[in-house]
Amino acid sequence: MEKQGDFFDDYTFDNSALKVNDGIKQPPAVNPYLQGRPPRRQAVKSVDEYMEGILAGDRTILSQAITLVESLSAEHRKVASEIIARCQKAVAGKETMRIGITGVPGVGKSTFIEAFGSHITSAGHKLAVLAIDPSSERSKGSILGDKTRMETLVRDPKAFIRPSPSAGSLGGVARRTRETILLCEAAGYDVTFIETVGVGQSETAVHSMSDFFLLLMLSGAGDELQGIKRGIMEMSDLIAITKADGSNVEKAKVARGLYASALHLFPPTESGWVPTAVTSSAVTKEGLDTIMQKIDEYFTLVRSNGFYRRKRALQARYWMYESIDDALKNRFYENETIERLLPAYEQDVLDGKIDSFAAAEELIARYKA
Ligand code: GDP
Repeated sequence: MEKQGDFFDDYTFDNSALKVNDGIKQPPAVNPYLQGRPPRRQAVKSVDEYMEGILAGDRTILSQAITLVESLSAEHRKVASEIIARCQKAVAGKETMRIGITGVPGVGKSTFIEAFGSHITSAGHKLAVLAIDPSSERSKGSILGDKTRMETLVRDPKAFIRPSPSAGSLGGVARRTRETILLCEAAGYDVTFIETVGVGQSETAVHSMSDFFLLLMLSGAGDELQGIKRGIMEMSDLIAITKADGSNVEKAKVARGLYASALHLFPPTESGWVPTAVTSSAVTKEGLDTIMQKIDEYFTLVRSNGFYRRKRALQARYWMYESIDDALKNRFYENETIERLLPAYEQDVLDGKIDSFAAAEELIARYKA
């Protein structure tokens, strides 16, 4: 049955009594002519206008500039690159805090960010909340897409919340998020949270753009159950056992002890920081102070021992290579010859007429020619 983009999209009724046999094609719920229309376009301002707005902390202009950063259009990218370069200059030397936050769905990330975020803004900081979620599209309610989950923070004039850029390659989404951090920092947001779902590869991306990495964990469930890989624990600067309230307090304390000893088994960190585990509750707000204190201690340490700068420098190098990889790949796939030849090669590989390595070699040779 042809899909009409309606309610039934997410369901498979093939073996069900509810299966509807193909019949007369029904008109779609949304007028197809309207669907095909490009979204209303915002007139592109000059770089100077964007910069003036960003540096003055104008949230509307900041949002519009981020939209340019996220855009795939060459014209937008050109303006965006200049904005990014100017923002980078504007924040050079400023010691901002970039905090990566991860944990499996349901661990309480949104609730934590809402509670802890308010804590941060009350302490006088301006907070940007970003997310990396390459798996979902914004329209389908990606993390942070559902802003009602952060009611207080959304209304907080000192907080700026931006959902994950819509679906794309992880590399692309991550790069755009990294650039967005710079724009937010230029607009005066001295603390940035970068949230990610604790599954898949996105933690590495978030880790590669944050100074401090916070892992949220549930008590009473093994690591395996939580889908948290050892590598993610190893890159964490702090583990917070969430939902330590009511009847869960004792279990959370036990889990804290277990994770604290697990952390001791990892080799010493290059930063000189000793990762530790704490308990927290977004409901009673218990533990939020300790987390704030740990983060402050971390930044005091790494700013004084030089690791803060060193890590930022290494991250910059990492992102240079990532950008090269990204650009080369895009150039290859956007090349006219490759676009023309690719479908036939793909079919030949599927049909077993040519092996994949030979096909790749030949295509790359044609690209270079
Ligand atoms: P996310 O998927 O990681 O963003 O998790 P959510 O923030 O949506 O939280 C998942 C569920 O856990 C929700 O029903 C929350 O109300 C609940 N929750 C989150 N934090 C706490 C907490 O500190 N204590 C308690 N008791 N429940 C919490």
